Amino acid sequence: MVAVNRQVLLASRPQGAVFADNFRIVDAALPSIGAGDVLVRNEWLSIDPYMRGRMSDAKSYVPPVQIGEVMVGQTVGEIVESADSRFAPGDKVLTQLGWQLYGVAKADEVRKIETSHVPTSYYLGLLGMPGMTAWFGLLDIGQPKAGETVVISAASGAVGSVVGQLAKLRGCRAVGIAGGPAKCEYVVDELGFDACVDYKRGALYDDLRSACSNGVDVDFENVGGEVLDTTLRVMNRYSRIVLCGLIAEYNATEPYGYKRLRSVLVKRIRMQGMIVFDWKHRYDEAIAGLSRYFAEGKLKYRESVTEGIDNAPQALIGLLRGENFGKQLVKLA
Ligand code: NDP
Repeated sequence: MVAVNRQVLLASRPQGAVFADNFRIVDAALPSIGAGDVLVRNEWLSIDPYMRGRMSDAKSYVPPVQIGEVMVGQTVGEIVESADSRFAPGDKVLTQLGWQLYGVAKADEVRKIETSHVPTSYYLGLLGMPGMTAWFGLLDIGQPKAGETVVISAASGAVGSVVGQLAKLRGCRAVGIAGGPAKCEYVVDELGFDACVDYKRGALYDDLRSACSNGVDVDFENVGGEVLDTTLRVMNRYSRIVLCGLIAEYNATEPYGYKRLRSVLVKRIRMQGMIVFDWKHRYDEAIAGLSRYFAEGKLKYRESVTEGIDNAPQALIGLLRGENFGKQLVKLA
């Protein structure tokens, strides 16, 4: 049987929320390789919030996906054919091959992964981009000190779950913000946060106040909008905000009107944006640290798996509605 390369293309740019008809699913011929290339059969596709931004043509830190192109995304998979002496068929690799079953990459752009101690898919989550974001965002920008209170929004997710556990390992009080009682229970009972506030209950300010009786020293911000605006009210003087993501605003057609920016001035808060690629040269450090904690049983990690490439659009649509519970992946093979 001749293998076909099923692909998900960007069909149109969403205006507001993402819908299935923003994508087109096609079958293409298997690509062939040239000198220095590898052919990879993708096994897992990572679904990430940033993908919403790449579907728009608004100016950003990376160019958008063009209409008719394969949707962008990180994958892990297996080398099928190699024209580079560093790789052989059967090697497991991390690539940027996007939403398709097979892809050709330059060998220099592919990273071999060590899967004897963790499942392959972890290189898209705990030991991948989300794990790197948690590690450097919290430790380098947040600079948490023992005894301080760290608040983490989207706390049950790929980045947030790791941030809170790292904060606990640094001797901090970790307070999550998440949507719904099931996610909050998981954050406290399984991940070991000290408390978790359900923002969907409609009492975010009061609930945060009582969960953070000494105020907030570090806010690891994944959500933005009303969640950030409310958190500003409970921040301490000289506190830090790691501005990692603004997922509540990704589908919005109008900017959120922040009302509490004055707190940044009055309380001398240091707010710093982060883009994880800035730490590319130090990823090995984070992989080593996170692997060690995981091996010691000090880090828990959960995945939300969607089966089959045809369901990848729905996985992204669901992620942007908070339907994922843990790192969102699509199992391709
Ligand atoms: P998650 O696994 O946390 O999944 C996204 C979660 O965000 C949802 O499960 C949902 O959780 C929450 N969410 C979705 N929509 C809303 C909304 N409208 N209001 C409030 N919460 C919402 O994703 P990641 O861990 O991969 O990413 C978390 C954040 O980190 C994102 O903002 C992302 O863009 C950012 N990020 C930034 C990076 C960087 O370099 N700056 C790198 C990686 C990620 P709930 O049900 O609890 O609301």
